[in-house]
Amino acid sequence: MQFKDIVGQKDLLARIIQLVKDKHLPHAMMLSGHAGSGGLPIALATAQFIVCTNKQESDSCGECAACVKMQKLQHPDVHFSFPVYKKKDTEIPLSDHFIQQFRTFILENPYATDTDWIKYLGTTKQANITALECREIIKKLQLRSFESEFKIMIIWYPEYLDKEGNILLKVIEEPTKKTLLFFVTEDMDAVLPTIQSRTQLFHLKRLSDVEIKSAIMDSGTNEIEATQIARLAEGNYNYAQTLLAHQDENMVEVLRNWLNWIYANKGIELVKWIYALTEKDKEYQKKFLAYVIQILEHMLRYKHMPKGELALLDGELKLIEILESKGLSPYRIAEWTDLLNESIYEIERNANTKILFHALSLRIQKLVHRKMSVS
Ligand SMILES: [Zn+2]
Repeated sequence: MQFKDIVGQKDLLARIIQLVKDKHLPHAMMLSGHAGSGGLPIALATAQFIVCTNKQESDSCGECAACVKMQKLQHPDVHFSFPVYKKKDTEIPLSDHFIQQFRTFILENPYATDTDWIKYLGTTKQANITALECREIIKKLQLRSFESEFKIMIIWYPEYLDKEGNILLKVIEEPTKKTLLFFVTEDMDAVLPTIQSRTQLFHLKRLSDVEIKSAIMDSGTNEIEATQIARLAEGNYNYAQTLLAHQDENMVEVLRNWLNWIYANKGIELVKWIYALTEKDKEYQKKFLAYVIQILEHMLRYKHMPKGELALLDGELKLIEILESKGLSPYRIAEWTDLLNESIYEIERNANTKILFHALSLRIQKLVHRKMSVS
């Protein structure tokens, strides 16, 4: 991973690059940022910049032997520690037991989260970073470095360290020479206070819609889809990628059709629409509902904000104007939103989605016609 591959976080990257060049990088860093903001990618790019034997002005070269190893997460001086689970009762699990899977998983998507990781492992067991793992970390940091000047330990999700994490305090406080510890957390408050206070905090910003949009467009998505996804992702690039994987048509079209059949009371068309939507997987269905909620939120803002600031697509603006003209009030919007949120929750609980979308459509239709009869 190189700095050029990181989405946003430009100020933070500039600061880290300067610290590396000045040889002032603190030996225990805490990279803290919410899910999908890029903590692990930054740790990987920093490690690669450090071990690269042909450093460029502000990035690793991406080509030297050290970079090639880093890009496979196989550099002998860069170690990883992360939450793992017990496969057998008799065993105390170590990150090393899972390293192959971890490499494949992270190389696939360095923005992934602990939840994705546990899902990837296919376990329902509690994951942990154990006391034995902490001793392994210390052992690895005491080794002589093989190829690089530094030994680097990346600890992914230190919030999984319970009080056994205190085993690490000595190595944080009195590090062996040329040793770097990068902690990557999503929830700083859940990290042991004793560790927090001994590391230097590097705070990641929430990614802007523009940053996410441009990263998605770089990967070949058109502007309309990229705009919709960036807005739904709310600063989480990992989620943006999940959304991208489920993006296959223009959502405003799908929404416009749905509302058409509901408002015009066209039962047969509505049933066809429901069948088409429920053919798609559940992630897509949830995304659709989240999208509707967003459009409704924009509708609330629409009256009070200059139109240019809404970041709406033409089709969305038109749809909002139609809904306005049909008298969809803020009060009704709140009722719709409750129904939509409920439906997302039900899908997560494995509801039958055909029945669910039928019921939802009927309930919204009822709200629509109640409104019409009042006015
Ligand atoms: Zn290099």
